[in-house]
Amino acid sequence: MEYITCHDCDLVVELPQLKDGERAYCPRCHHLLTNKIPDPLQRASAFSIAALILLILANCYPFLTFSASGHVQVMTLIQSAIALYRGGSEILSFFVVAFIILIPALVLTCQLMVILPLLLGREPLINRRLWARAMYMLSPWSMVEVFVVGVLVSLVKIASMATIILGTSFWAYVGFTLLFLLAFTSLDRYQLWNMLLPHPQPSAQPGRSAISQNLASCHVCTLTVPVDEQRCPRCHAPLHVRIHNSLQNTVALLITAFILYFPANILPITRTEQFGNIIDSTIIGGVVLMWSMGSYAVAMVIFFASVMIPMAKLLALAWLSWSVGNANPDKARQRTTLYRVTEFVGRWSMIDVFVVSILVALINLGNILSIYPGHAALAFAGVVIITILAADSFDPRLIWDELERKSR
Ligand SMILES: [Zn+2]
Ligand SMILES: [Zn+2]
Repeated sequence: MEYITCHDCDLVVELPQLKDGERAYCPRCHHLLTNKIPDPLQRASAFSIAALILLILANCYPFLTFSASGHVQVMTLIQSAIALYRGGSEILSFFVVAFIILIPALVLTCQLMVILPLLLGREPLINRRLWARAMYMLSPWSMVEVFVVGVLVSLVKIASMATIILGTSFWAYVGFTLLFLLAFTSLDRYQLWNMLLPHPQPSAQPGRSAISQNLASCHVCTLTVPVDEQRCPRCHAPLHVRIHNSLQNTVALLITAFILYFPANILPITRTEQFGNIIDSTIIGGVVLMWSMGSYAVAMVIFFASVMIPMAKLLALAWLSWSVGNANPDKARQRTTLYRVTEFVGRWSMIDVFVVSILVALINLGNILSIYPGHAALAFAGVVIITILAADSFDPRLIWDELERKSR
């Protein structure tokens, strides 16, 4: 019998023979267990190679060109990070370059290192499990699609001040983003690891949780193994029946993010200098300004991404952590859905940080018109990154453990 342990609720689920294009969902929490994609290796390798080529092109040409009152400013992709560095926001510039160029490039390289040897039937360079583990570790930190939305928001913000020309690199980056997403979604984690390193699983009874059968599932490669193993025998990742100190870590990270939320909203996120006048603008100030200028859509995007989502995410995770042991266990599925939504939307809050990086790089005409990063930008990036870590350290299986304890 082929089975898989659900990552979100720990249920052991028997897998039927899936045909190409079919998906298997967990009957208890509706988590997508596996997706049988036709020709995954050919698709993923084609998309990854094309994406890498476009990423290189995106770094070779002008990204955006800005012209105002006779002055022309050309910005390349990497300048969005360099300008932050020059503006005194060194840490932020590191995050920007990592999230939009370095990590995506590494994810694609790891992916090719895993799939090309499989496709060509060759021995891989270095250990193939290391490449596959690195790929899954890094992928949540690639924010290419968030950056593209950030660019679009910046364009609307600047449109009233100047003429903007979209450069070759901009289109290359948009193409890269589409191919990157296609490449990554062409591989299913369960199917890939079974092709990469097939491994027997101990016998288990479907319809019961893994923990009740003294089994645990590996969070990296999905293999189910006996709980007394220290490391996964297939991918060598450390094994935890449940994420260690999950609730304590989540709550500690939430408190940190909550504290940072205040400077992020009170301090200026950008400082604009125009003919010697200096105007500081906060996140909310930016929303109000865009609204008063009639850019309602952009005002709404920034308001939701920068103000509502971080707060809603903090509250949702705080409530979920409290709910383990306190709330009605019958609502486990709804709580798991809330958790998944929280996990999904978190990265979109980076939009405003990317907007700042683009404005700072593009609008740089000395004292005629220049924009500099404010202290809120780093605090805000901190809120986003720490809440992503908080969501990551929350173990949704704790919600289901309680339901099982109650029904026993
Ligand atoms: Zn499940
Ligand atoms: Zn594993």
